[in-house]
Amino acid sequence: MSDYPARAVVDLAAIRGNVAALAGYASTAQVMAVVKADAYGHGLVPVARAAVEGGATWLGTAQVSEALALRAAGVVGPRILAWLYAPGAPLREAIEADVDLSVAAPWAVGAVVVAAREAGRSARVHLKVDTGLGRNGVMPDALDEVVVPLLEAQAEGAVELVGVWSHFAFADEPDHPTVRAQEDVFDAAVRAVEAAGAHLEVRHIANSAATLTRPAVHYDLVRPGLAVYGLSPVPQLGGPEAFGLTPAMTLEARLATVKDVGAGQGVSYAHQYVTDRATRLGVVPLGYADGIPRHASGTPGRLGGPVQVGGRRLGIAGRVCMDQFVLDLGPGADEQAGDVVTLFGRAPGPTAQDWADVTGTISYEITTRLGARIPREYVN
Ligand SMILES: *Cc1c(COP(=O)(O)O)cnc(C)c1O
Repeated sequence: MSDYPARAVVDLAAIRGNVAALAGYASTAQVMAVVKADAYGHGLVPVARAAVEGGATWLGTAQVSEALALRAAGVVGPRILAWLYAPGAPLREAIEADVDLSVAAPWAVGAVVVAAREAGRSARVHLKVDTGLGRNGVMPDALDEVVVPLLEAQAEGAVELVGVWSHFAFADEPDHPTVRAQEDVFDAAVRAVEAAGAHLEVRHIANSAATLTRPAVHYDLVRPGLAVYGLSPVPQLGGPEAFGLTPAMTLEARLATVKDVGAGQGVSYAHQYVTDRATRLGVVPLGYADGIPRHASGTPGRLGGPVQVGGRRLGIAGRVCMDQFVLDLGPGADEQAGDVVTLFGRAPGPTAQDWADVTGTISYEITTRLGARIPREYVN
């Protein structure tokens, strides 16, 4: 442990194993490990390298800057797709760095063509179709507005239209009727683009949930994110172990202080927790500035976010502050300053999903929100 009193330990063997497990689910497709948002808080470059070792042949990022950071760090083997950008994005740099680009709107065709001419080489493009998510992507009835200019640009060598892709609205509810409906819209869009003259290399629509639950939509490439990190995208159907996944991150801190207080002691801002007996309190040096949700505060009658300390499961006592929160360790507890508290990791200890349940969110948000102040340490 560094001298910082908290750390997120990231097990790269778990990343490798999770990617290998996902490749097993999608044995007819290639795997794109999605490493956007600093690899869901786990650390972009170490995770990307481990994912490639685990069998990923593609990496996916949202922002172009994330893709460029991978190339700048020497991640040169895998294909990389960046899919979210606004006018002014460094597209020429992306093309020079051999990054594939999504095109999700007519304006982006022009921007990519200009950037390709500047770069002096053709841009590999994946056309994003909005098959029903209602987010980014070209509506099916507007495909011509993008396909026609893309194929013109392809004829002059500025672009290569290598992919058609989309994203589900309800992949985490595999039986939802929109899943099948989006699949049909996707198939029709692929046919239309091919009929217009494109020779596609990859068709892709499956995120983690669809990779794990819907083989029919694996196509040529799957794009798992959350499952790479060993978390379940369908917690109502099963935890990570049900899918052969292992959570990669363990978040832990060392107690900054322990002290004995009497009954009736109000704890932390606004005294939302009051001791009901003489007890020992412990201060954990992580707070909302580190991404510990303030909604994980203990409220009257309910302990907050779960932690493991000395083999016991406790909940946060009172409000989460910017840099710290408090635990009621119990009368006679023998914890001392410096003892380790685990916030989340692998079951049977508390998990990121447990934190998500306490705070009314999804495990994605628990790991991605962890602050830059917490050192990431890599094992295996
Ligand atoms: C984030 C993202 C993914 C990965 O989603 P998971 O649910 O984490 O597997 C795949 N595709 C797109 C377009 C995304 O934005």
